[in-house]
Amino acid sequence: MINPLPSLPLVNGALFIDNNIMDEWNECPEQWKNRFLLNRTAAFSKPALNFGTGIHLALAMIERGKDKTTACVEMTQYFLANPQPPEDHRSEAHAVETIQRYVEHHKDDHWSVLQTDKGPFVEFPFAFKLFDCIATPSSPLVPIFFCGKIDLAVEKPDRTRWVVDHKTTFQLGSMFSYEMKMSPQMRGYCWAFKKAFGALPMGYIVDAIRTSVPTQKCLDAGLLSGDSKALDKWWLEQFYREPFYINQEEIDEWERNTIALIEEMLWHYSRGSLPQKRKWCVAKYGRCQYYDVCSLPATQRPLMLQSNMFVDDTWTPLNKPSNANPNIVQG
Ligand code: SF4
Repeated sequence: MINPLPSLPLVNGALFIDNNIMDEWNECPEQWKNRFLLNRTAAFSKPALNFGTGIHLALAMIERGKDKTTACVEMTQYFLANPQPPEDHRSEAHAVETIQRYVEHHKDDHWSVLQTDKGPFVEFPFAFKLFDCIATPSSPLVPIFFCGKIDLAVEKPDRTRWVVDHKTTFQLGSMFSYEMKMSPQMRGYCWAFKKAFGALPMGYIVDAIRTSVPTQKCLDAGLLSGDSKALDKWWLEQFYREPFYINQEEIDEWERNTIALIEEMLWHYSRGSLPQKRKWCVAKYGRCQYYDVCSLPATQRPLMLQSNMFVDDTWTPLNKPSNANPNIVQG
């Protein structure tokens, strides 16, 4: 029987899966199909994502040894090419101030960027084999690679090594910490770190930046009464780092679990139909990006996906696995 689903995007016979693909599968297989198999993503601007990309770019430059002025110039160039919507509070100017305040805030932190034989461990792309799987009853064994890009790895004065992930978020606090503590993304990065360096890191550090803007009260205090303390205090609360220890048992569990989820994915795929998880059509933070597709009759959905409301999805951690440096793809 011919599988009615689009072909799996194999690269040289292998399948590359990253954390985003896992998240999409876990939320809704229909979403996974639209993004991973049909390669279509919403065209509407994603200001939060765009802001985070600009911030990541500046942080990576600083971690590679550039000064904050050079990093901000580069980030400004990025926003010129990828402007934020004028009404969005996460403006280019706010990004510049965020980077300047971030550098000042963390200037006394004692860690150094881990050095590798390829240079500083900054924005480290990886692809390591997870397992072999039969994707369809008639297909041969497909090697499954887990891939991603680790923001940073550092060494502390006590010689412990840590994987660091920069997060831009609109909300900090206990819910954010609970989410980070359970993060499969970070366990996957620690797994990859061990594959690359032969030993687990001590854990991972979430380096968070809240992306809200100062309250009117803070601004008024500075502008009207010349009191900048309220604003300085507000900025102090925008930066938050939290370490999470990791052990081999947790990494083994992540590996087993990830393999089981991919097997589930490919089992559904091999049957030629995918379940929808409609609970996620409308979630806490808004509508699923494919809401306007899935709310149409099934026969009209392909047309909507091909409309200019959607564009080809060009992002992957490896800028397409087919472009991956063979040095970082290991069986
Ligand atoms: S709109 Fe609903 S069914 Fe469609 S992809 Fe999103 S979550 Fe799945």
